[in-house]
Amino acid sequence: MASVSPTSASPINQATRVAILGGGPGGYEAALVAAQLGADVTVVERDGLGGSTVLTDVVPSKTLIATAELMASVAGAAELGVRFPGGSTPDSEPAGAVTVDLARVHARVKALASAQSADVRARLEKEGVTLLSGAGALDGPNAVVVRDGEDAGARVEADVVLVSVGARPRTLPDAEPDGERILTWKQVYDLTELPEHLIVVGSGVTGAEFANAYDALGAHVTLISSRDRVLPGEDADAAEVLESVFRRRGMDVMSRSRAAKVERHGDSVTVTLADGRTVEGSHCIVAVGAIPNTAGLGLEEAGVWTSESGHIDVDKVSRTSARGVYAAGDCTGVFPLASVAAMQGRIAMWHALGDTVAPLKLRSVASTVFTSPEIATVGWTQAQIDSGEAQGEIVKLPLATNARAKMLGIHDGFVKLFCRTGSGTVIGGVVVAPRASELIFPVTLAVEKRLNVDDVAHAFTIYPSLTGSLAEAARQLHVMGE
Ligand SMILES: Cc1cc2nc3c(=O)[nH]c(=O)nc-3n(C[C@H](O)[C@H](O)[C@H](O)COP(=O)(O)OP(=O)(O)OC[C@H]3O[C@@H](n4cnc5c(N)ncnc54)[C@H](O)[C@@H]3O)c2cc1C
Repeated sequence: MASVSPTSASPINQATRVAILGGGPGGYEAALVAAQLGADVTVVERDGLGGSTVLTDVVPSKTLIATAELMASVAGAAELGVRFPGGSTPDSEPAGAVTVDLARVHARVKALASAQSADVRARLEKEGVTLLSGAGALDGPNAVVVRDGEDAGARVEADVVLVSVGARPRTLPDAEPDGERILTWKQVYDLTELPEHLIVVGSGVTGAEFANAYDALGAHVTLISSRDRVLPGEDADAAEVLESVFRRRGMDVMSRSRAAKVERHGDSVTVTLADGRTVEGSHCIVAVGAIPNTAGLGLEEAGVWTSESGHIDVDKVSRTSARGVYAAGDCTGVFPLASVAAMQGRIAMWHALGDTVAPLKLRSVASTVFTSPEIATVGWTQAQIDSGEAQGEIVKLPLATNARAKMLGIHDGFVKLFCRTGSGTVIGGVVVAPRASELIFPVTLAVEKRLNVDDVAHAFTIYPSLTGSLAEAARQLHVMGE
């Protein structure tokens, strides 16, 4: 990691010119590091600073989910003795008494996203970064040109170039989004009324998050999954919990169902499955992955290698095949997370500008599926342990027996901890719970710092607390270790 702290920054790279293509976290975090190290930095951004992360993906979806979470709490409030106008009792759900104003929810989402984008712009300006507006491309490995937009025609000569252009939603040839009824995840925030029946095609993280959110907001949701279960890339037990919660809440989950076509007929949509079955709804979100924005950037001409999928090949310090050209974020396909994009961007600049740098470590990257309950994971997976790829011991504790979970009315979820067989070093974990995104941090720390299960077991936890189950899992792993 960089040894230079914000207060002790020294201009060690006065003459180095850095050009960055893309102002998402991969690009703007890199710009901040480069500026801190004294480089002359220019960022070229096409749509808005903060990138898709801030304007259309992470910030909007998590803001929407904040309202959905509140609605989920409301739905469970009767059990805790709360009554709502409309006369709900512990036996009758309060749904119906509380509704959302989707136009207001989405207006809040957009306002928050643009305020966050303005914050990113202000911070970059404060650090002396030159900002150019427009779509850029490489002109060889040492120059970036702005092709259109406000600053069209500008050319930036650079000693170091970082490409961090992100990715965009993949669409299906027979499911072209129209922005009104057939939507990508970027277009949902233009809806002013709650969809009556929302069909979500794709049960990966994005599909599951939107299905969960609109279900909690009161829409009827059908989730179409081409696989055996939702979240095929996640911990199988966690996915099973989520799928059973979805079904219990009244969501239609269609497994092993591949969508072949989505058509709009006036105010309705029809999804035709590969086996000929059809599903009718009022709206459809197509969430079937993303493709990198790397076409037409002049990468090949600059000597930058890309894979068949269009992702830029990078090593662990974000170098591409072209000397002086680095890449970060979703366009590299390393790990599609904002936190990873930001770290790749910082590492690129630490490396390029000669600061202390450690290669990217993916083993301790934590990630979360923001559903109710949330699913947070870090480190090695149970699938890797079961297949023998990692030698590990596993303890899984349901939250149903945790005192705090009972008090909070939490019925679904668990904690799972993995340690290395023999040494007892914590190598990973899974938390399925409300706010699992926060609860995973002690496990991430343990994985990052290679703590032993006994280190975790001997630390105090609050009584009563959900993290108490993590310490309990660590204690049980000690017994197994013996
Ligand atoms: C719905 C959704 C929810 C998500 N939630 C989370 C989450 O909760 N946590 C998390 O860590 N990750 C989340 N992700 C993933 C996260 O959004 C990405 O990993 C992250 O955006 C990658 O950052 P980036 O800098 O690579 O790209 P981006 O944020 O996409 O930024 C790239 C920028 O490059 C610009 N650009 C593209 N081409 C050009 C060009 N030719 N010239 C100039 N500029 C250009 C684009 O306009 C864009 O602003 C989510 C993704 C989605 C789809």
